[in-house]
Amino acid sequence: MRDCIFCKIVAKKIPAELIREAAEFIVIKDIQPKAPVHLLIIPKKHIPSMNEVTEADRQLLGQMLEEAKRLAVDYGLSGRGYKVVINCGREGGQMVPHVHFHFLGGQMVPGLF
Ligand code: 5GP
Ligand code: ZN
Repeated sequence: MRDCIFCKIVAKKIPAELIREAAEFIVIKDIQPKAPVHLLIIPKKHIPSMNEVTEADRQLLGQMLEEAKRLAVDYGLSGRGYKVVINCGREGGQMVPHVHFHFLGGQMVPGLF
């Protein structure tokens, strides 16, 4: 998608702090972290929101959830706890129209998630 900021990050046309690159998704640091650990798991495929997810995306979404579990281990958060958040649409607080998982850990900023 030409004017999508996350597609541009995936294509490396906009810089981002890349944590991991897998075949189907990337993990970057959120530019405005709402928690001590705030990462974004972003599929390479442009899917505007949860509303457009289909059966064809099952494997991709499963891999992204497995990645969240792996990140929890890597950041020492498995035992302490963490959040995986998907915002959808205006009232869901979605700002970037390219589906993504927020991975949040450490002490949360109250009320934001
Ligand atoms: P949403 O509100 O759509 O669920 O979340 C979008 C997230 O993307 C926000 O937490 C915001 O800080 C982050 N974000 C927006 N633009 C950029 C960017 O250019 N680079 C990075 N790393 N994060 C971004
Ligand atoms: Zn996109």
